[in-house]
Amino acid sequence: MNNRSSPVHAVINPFPVQNGELIVGGLPLSRLAARVGQTPFYVYDRHLLTQRVGELRAALPTTLKLHYAMKANPMPALVCHMAGLVDGIDVASAGELQVALDAGANPRDISFAGPGKRRSELQQAVAAGILINIESFREVVELAAIGDATGYTARIAVRVNPDFELKSSGMKMGGGAKQFGVDAEQVPGLLAEIGRSGLAFEGFHLFAGSQNLRPEAIVEAQGKSYELALRLAQAAPSTVRFLNLGGGFGIPYFPGEQPLDLAPIGANLANIVERAGHELPAAELVVELGRYLVGEAGIYVTRIVDRKVSRGHTFLVCDGGLHHHLSASGNFGQVIRKNYPVAIGNRMTPTELETVSVVGPLCTPLDLLADRMALATAQAGDLVVIFQSGAYGITASPQAFLGHPAGIELLV
Ligand SMILES: *Cc1c(COP(=O)(O)O)cnc(C)c1O
Repeated sequence: MNNRSSPVHAVINPFPVQNGELIVGGLPLSRLAARVGQTPFYVYDRHLLTQRVGELRAALPTTLKLHYAMKANPMPALVCHMAGLVDGIDVASAGELQVALDAGANPRDISFAGPGKRRSELQQAVAAGILINIESFREVVELAAIGDATGYTARIAVRVNPDFELKSSGMKMGGGAKQFGVDAEQVPGLLAEIGRSGLAFEGFHLFAGSQNLRPEAIVEAQGKSYELALRLAQAAPSTVRFLNLGGGFGIPYFPGEQPLDLAPIGANLANIVERAGHELPAAELVVELGRYLVGEAGIYVTRIVDRKVSRGHTFLVCDGGLHHHLSASGNFGQVIRKNYPVAIGNRMTPTELETVSVVGPLCTPLDLLADRMALATAQAGDLVVIFQSGAYGITASPQAFLGHPAGIELLV
């Protein structure tokens, strides 16, 4: 809290404030809550999603394709909006595939990654005509069998578990022993099998990790991914037409974190695209992003039910909690719990702040949304807002835990 009159850092709050109230989708937050008819809810802003894609397009080379990894936020209306903005959708299950197809995404530009794809999911993916990022020798056998049984040829890329890591990443998903992809050193053998299988080989997929705020780490991983793909291409059964270099772009959540500087990443990708123009001339280059595209466009809104003081410490007890927003409680991948950016949405220009803890209604001490934070002095009925909530929110939370009502999502 570096500014007493504005408890939320400007970088973290992308919404306007009028008469002390957050304006979301053109409405004061309390009126939006009245229109929804209940709290808690998530709300995502179309305009912010569109703006984010525009900023990325401006920073990245024009021929580079931008995919949305929809596991970050699979709300159907949002995926529909994103499908109209990006060049492709990445799905991680047959359930997500259904949403992507319903959203109008072109099957040509949908790709499917994930360990443990079941036979039925592979069958659906082949029938849909999407690109399958294969992650094991077993998937080659299954897909060949599906081809024999149905006559549909699978379009495939090989997901490579690289021989390096994405440094200082929130979540590492490549390098070392991983359940994702096929180890780089096993890929030549896999490619030989693919060559014998009759599957339609299109290229490679590399995804090293998530939530990275250091451009130099992302630049290094993308450079190494390209070099690795170039090496593996020598063993490819046919021309490389697709190369997914991953993503991992992070967003700032916690005090001291700065937004990712896209300039060095864009410059490096321009370099790679240039090289690929003669080294892999048929290849379409792709980056796939989830959180970076949607995370900052959404908030979670929950109403204060009770305000109580326990041995001198004030608790704001809300109707929403970790059952809808596990990430904000610090239990989704964080090593040390830190507070998400939180504010009282109907008291955005407070004259006084007080140090409080914001908790949810669940009977567990884990249900903590803000731990000893300086917030506007608030009462029961006020609206707590958790920013940076557009990614890994409701679908990454244990909604059934304790039997509270399911969460609501809106796109404005
Ligand atoms: C989860 C995932 C993404 C999205 O990651 P973000 O950190 O949300 O950008 C992209 N690709 C793959 C393969 C993933 O598993």
